[in-house]
Amino acid sequence: MKIGILAVQGAFIEHERCLEQLGAEVVEIRQQKDLANHSFDGLVLPGGESTVMGKLICDLKIFAPLQEMIAGGMPVFGTCAGLLLLAKQIDGNPSGHLACMEITAVRNAYGRQLGSFSVQQEMSHVGEIPMVFIRAPYIAAVGENVEVLAEVEGKIVAAREGRMLATAFHPELTDDLSVHQYFLTMINQDKPVS
Ligand code: GLN
Repeated sequence: MKIGILAVQGAFIEHERCLEQLGAEVVEIRQQKDLANHSFDGLVLPGGESTVMGKLICDLKIFAPLQEMIAGGMPVFGTCAGLLLLAKQIDGNPSGHLACMEITAVRNAYGRQLGSFSVQQEMSHVGEIPMVFIRAPYIAAVGENVEVLAEVEGKIVAAREGRMLATAFHPELTDDLSVHQYFLTMINQDKPVS
């Protein structure tokens, strides 16, 4: 199983460690040729700063290839800023970035005082896990094909639409690998039988 991780900014190394511990091969995506030279089973869009990442993927000319891959059914897992890259609507930026997933996200939604916090909470199909939030968004609205996977204090913090998985929190910053395991299982389940 080969996973491409967007590695232009943010917490991509932490995702690599999690996926490698689960036996996946990881390739960093930094430029167009990284996408052209590899075939992937899935993609990870890490946390970081969505406005910076959104600009970098345009400047590096990997915006359109990434968008096409995801629209074509490539499984993708976005955390925090990665969730914002996937969202079709962002409060204050309705056109979004890659804009693939039928969710409306609100940035920096917990205010300055609650910039970072962690909770132990249930996520559907995964179980009870530690959830670390860092200047996190939440999901304010979802389309009809989106499954809500977790809520914290009444706000949606994890969701899935087909092969797209998004969490407002950072499973890669904990020792718990179960969300990454869920993503790999999701890829395997969806693989066409050849
Ligand atoms: N607040 C950041 C943004 O808007 C996301 C923070 C994160 O990824 N930890 O992009």
